[in-house]
Amino acid sequence: MKLKDSTNTEAAMKGSKYRNFPMVPRVIFGAGSFDQLHEILLPRRRNTDAPVIFLVDDVFAGTPLMARIPAIMEDQIILISADEEPKTHQVDALVAKISSEIPEAPAGIVGIGGGTLLDLAKAVAIMLNNEGKTQQYQGWDLVPNEALYHVGVPTLSGTGAEVSRTTVLLGPNRKLGINSDFTPFDQVVLDPDLTKGVPRDQWFYTGMDCFIHCVESLNGAYINAFSRSYGEKAMELCKAVFLEELEPSESREKLMMASWHGGMSIAYSQVGVAHALSYGLSYVLGTPHGLGNCLVFRHLQDYYPEGVRLFNAMAEKQRIEFPEKVCGGLTEHDLDTMAEVALEMGPLWENALGQDWEAQIDPERIKEVYRKI
Ligand code: NAD
Ligand code: ZN
Repeated sequence: MKLKDSTNTEAAMKGSKYRNFPMVPRVIFGAGSFDQLHEILLPRRRNTDAPVIFLVDDVFAGTPLMARIPAIMEDQIILISADEEPKTHQVDALVAKISSEIPEAPAGIVGIGGGTLLDLAKAVAIMLNNEGKTQQYQGWDLVPNEALYHVGVPTLSGTGAEVSRTTVLLGPNRKLGINSDFTPFDQVVLDPDLTKGVPRDQWFYTGMDCFIHCVESLNGAYINAFSRSYGEKAMELCKAVFLEELEPSESREKLMMASWHGGMSIAYSQVGVAHALSYGLSYVLGTPHGLGNCLVFRHLQDYYPEGVRLFNAMAEKQRIEFPEKVCGGLTEHDLDTMAEVALEMGPLWENALGQDWEAQIDPERIKEVYRKI
């Protein structure tokens, strides 16, 4: 079978049959493993002119985590808000700041936070070693030079950004990832205790991002044994976390590993209808990724009947209330724009509906879903 990759397809463009997929080469896992970050970074440190730059979610300002960040000598800690999803001009500004303040290339970039901070860290590491503006690398395999050494430390589980080969950025014209072999982290630190303070709704929304990755990957046309093996494991872990009674520490560990496996599953397959529609929602309304996926997915029983049944059972068990009438105030023009953005995601539709997807979906059917949200 010819594999279509999630991120389009250098392999296909070159006529190669299978894509040669990069993975995160080093990972440390365990409650408290964050405290080993100092020793992990040590061999990377050359001299005081080449500090480590820590990009940290500002939700941690004033918390005990700040004192545990192993910043020494001239290292910098830059606090960044995750209230808005990452933007290309934000990456450009960070790279300009770092380059102007530091005499030589930093020893490494460490991103500490949810998907937003992880994506920013990946993008900054790429752009410190590549010329020009970030927006010119949005797309597939456009990055010529290796990224600077970069480390991801997730504090929120679900997106799979810690394993993926993309960094999703909002640019001047479009929301699109920098998909490249240089995007994945060189090192990931999986410390489930770092997710302790996540607000409950956010925990559910981002956790459901992982669940939806599994549903879309396992039910898609691009499924293969590689993706299935990860997707099934992630699905099993999600069911345990959201439908069973677990000890909090076990729940944190399991969701962190679900996120990892869910990310691996879509790396070699593709997402589907929920992600396509969620992109439209986020483009017009700025709805965050996890919440957007949830709002959409509830109305996709025609496409994923068993997935939607499980999703509803999980939301009920966890007593999650979703915002209502999110699309209520939108004009017909807004809905058209959203449908247009969703329909641009060709590979997602092809994965969900098959090669003749264009005959099966149209803007009206998509707008029907948005009207229910
Ligand atoms: P996020 O990083 O945007 O964070 C959501 C909220 O949770 C923020 O308010 C943040 O401050 C807070 N938070 C994070 N960790 C916390 C903690 N331990 N305690 C308290 N609060 C905490 O959320 P997300 O859902 O992880 O990431 C969404 C982003 O990930 C989007 O930009 C999306 O495009 C991107 N994404 C990337 C990929 C990829 O493969 N690169 C995949 C899916 C999504
Ligand atoms: Zn997702």
